[in-house]
Amino acid sequence: MNGRRPLLAANWKMNKTRAQARNFVEIVRQVVSPFPQAETCICPPFTALGAVNEGIRGSGIALGAQDLYWEKEGAYTGEISGPMLAECGCEYVLVGHSERRQLFGETIADTARKTRAAWDAGLVPILCVGESFEQRRSGETERVIETHVLEGTAKLSAGEVGKLVIAYEPIWAIGTGLPATSEEAQRISALIRGLAGGRFGDPVAAGLRILYGGSVKAANAAEFLGQADVDGALVGGASLDPTEFSKIVAAAKV
Ligand code: PEP
Repeated sequence: MNGRRPLLAANWKMNKTRAQARNFVEIVRQVVSPFPQAETCICPPFTALGAVNEGIRGSGIALGAQDLYWEKEGAYTGEISGPMLAECGCEYVLVGHSERRQLFGETIADTARKTRAAWDAGLVPILCVGESFEQRRSGETERVIETHVLEGTAKLSAGEVGKLVIAYEPIWAIGTGLPATSEEAQRISALIRGLAGGRFGDPVAAGLRILYGGSVKAANAAEFLGQADVDGALVGGASLDPTEFSKIVAAAKV
């Protein structure tokens, strides 16, 4: 036992109305509550945060957001701040998801600011890192991961990194149905822990939770969760179906 509580996080992306969110939570909470060994977090779109927050009350399921802006308030049309998310009941927030980086031009420097802002608002950032298909093909995976991890955590203290969550999400595995192998997920997770240890010290790295994300589903979840340095999963497509997601959570039962 390494003392790290597995985290299964659902990233709904831009899916589900408030009514659909309520229906999902009603089903999942009946299955998830009996498994306190693992932590479950649902990251709905901003518009469904309230509905999910009401639905999970008393269930032990945590609420997360999919993004935040680094300023607390001001003239930033369309943006949402950490304190606003905290007020909505969020405990977690995804930061630096590859879709933010690829589709919306988010830079690593932006990600570092957002990670800082999340902590300042009392939210635990789930910092997403991962290489593209081209970067993998040209042997740059390790360099990319190093940049994402070290620059993404550049504004955090060692104590904060010890409570951070990092999700290794190879971009080529996201939404493709072609996950990394569990060995690859373990190898990169160990690399991430080693990088954190080198910068912040081994005791800090030992507390850091590292998730794997990229085409995780009920059929392969246990294999990823069985890896020594993989402490959970960030689940996109398969988290939209309550039965499938419940099975993924159940796979974390030790
Ligand atoms: C994601 O977008 O974080 C993700 C892991 O997606 P999927 O599970 O659909 O690959």
